[in-house]
Amino acid sequence: MHKTIILILLFLLFPQTQTVTRQETLRGSITPEREWWDVLHYHLQVEFLLETRRMKGSNTITFKTLKPGTRMQIDLQPPLAITKITHGAEQLKFEREGNVYWVMFEKEIPKGVEDTIEVFYEGVPVVSKNPPWVGGITWGRDDLGEPFIVTTCQGIGASIWWPNKDHGADEPDRGMQISVTVPENLVAVSNGRLKKTDHDVAAKKKTYHWEVLNPINNYGVNVNIGNYVNVSEKYQGKGGVLDLNYWVLPHQKEAALRQFKEVTRMLEAFEYWFGKYPFYEDGYKLVTVSYPGMEHQSSVTYGNWFRNGYMQRDPCACGVGFKFDFIIVHESAHEWFGNNISMKDAADMWIHEGFANYSENLFVEYFFGKKDAEDYVIGTRRSIRNDRPIIGEYGTNREGSSDMYPKGGNMLHTIRQIINDDAKWRSILQGLNADFWHQTVTTQQIESYITKKSEIDLSKVFDQYLRTTQIPLLKYKVTGKTLSFSYERIVPGFAMPLRVSINGKETVITPTETKQTLDYPEEISTFEVNRNFYIETEKN
Ligand SMILES: [Zn+2]
Repeated sequence: MHKTIILILLFLLFPQTQTVTRQETLRGSITPEREWWDVLHYHLQVEFLLETRRMKGSNTITFKTLKPGTRMQIDLQPPLAITKITHGAEQLKFEREGNVYWVMFEKEIPKGVEDTIEVFYEGVPVVSKNPPWVGGITWGRDDLGEPFIVTTCQGIGASIWWPNKDHGADEPDRGMQISVTVPENLVAVSNGRLKKTDHDVAAKKKTYHWEVLNPINNYGVNVNIGNYVNVSEKYQGKGGVLDLNYWVLPHQKEAALRQFKEVTRMLEAFEYWFGKYPFYEDGYKLVTVSYPGMEHQSSVTYGNWFRNGYMQRDPCACGVGFKFDFIIVHESAHEWFGNNISMKDAADMWIHEGFANYSENLFVEYFFGKKDAEDYVIGTRRSIRNDRPIIGEYGTNREGSSDMYPKGGNMLHTIRQIINDDAKWRSILQGLNADFWHQTVTTQQIESYITKKSEIDLSKVFDQYLRTTQIPLLKYKVTGKTLSFSYERIVPGFAMPLRVSINGKETVITPTETKQTLDYPEEISTFEVNRNFYIETEKN
């Protein structure tokens, strides 16, 4: 089809669709200036200057060339600015185009070599207007008036506060070091393990050196600065001894010790469902912050008021949501789905949020049984809007609908019903985490994997729930001993089998868009579709 016609059709279908800007393409796609090099390691060194609300630092980027190249894309969003880039003894030329810097090497770097540049930057960073949903820095105060500073950057990107290759497809294979300088009376907590602290007595500053050994997604990197104290414990898990560290404010200690008992329960449930915690080398941390929470890798942030539910609400409105701490469970589930398995493109964000939402009901099932778990996941359907498809626009850093949470979770719950073999389903969840261990993936890979392992072609089910806003409608009619039924509002070829109960006895029907009839041996008095399948029904 002609491009213009496609654009007009898209506009008619999605009137809110806006033209993709060049900046969005630069941010969301793998440009030629990104494609030729692979990040091996970042060393971010950054000082937070509280008085002036400025930041100043550098990022040493170690990379390997996949092709020869001379021009490199580095992302950093204004008002922060790159001041200098060094390559060995040389200073590199660069120019800015909005959120992107074009860096020019003196001569072509050949394919297959390892090299390093250091990018220096400083300025006044964007202040977050609503963390964590709007990214930036929050220069806050805690309840006792002490400085409490946090970074958040999901969606907008890590380049809102540090220079990097801001695309999900490329994580630093050898991890990252984060060195944070703050006034000596404050503690800076970041990802991974605290390797050492330097104290500059004359300058009244401390530098905290944090080290992450595993690949890490950019938006998972964070710094939290406050009057933190540390509480630690050890967990004997599937990968050996896991160090658990809780960084809390002194007056939160008692409440935290009580509420954070949820952490070992979470680990027990998720290691059962998904396999071992993916970052034993980096440990697991909960860090209290001034916003609800975020899945920062090996450094989950927590601000859920030390109470069960989500900010004192119950996501399913069925009571079950108050049986667990939503933030500890949901954000930690991202260690498997989001941090271990990460999306290459932001359009596939449901791989993070659909699975994390789904994980909440698996946690419930592990501790409270199947009925509560079903009530929970089905209860979350009330937030589904079906406004836009779950999958966003590729290559633009545009995410899909927020339906990716409850609808993504309910799609996975529905797929579990189709497979109808709990042991196999659990082995698929574990298999995903083992086979895509520390990798970035596409929706296509996840779909193919589940289809292959379940030996059921689920492609139409994924198409229906991820790529349309239509919920299948089962139309049926009962006349005496005959049941007739068909689907409406489905993608071509959609034929999801349903477990139904006729006169209280379970049977399977496989509706399609063509009307079918079933002759039952006796008069049909009741007909019900198993509630775990996310469809709608209409009796004629
Ligand atoms: Zn999430």
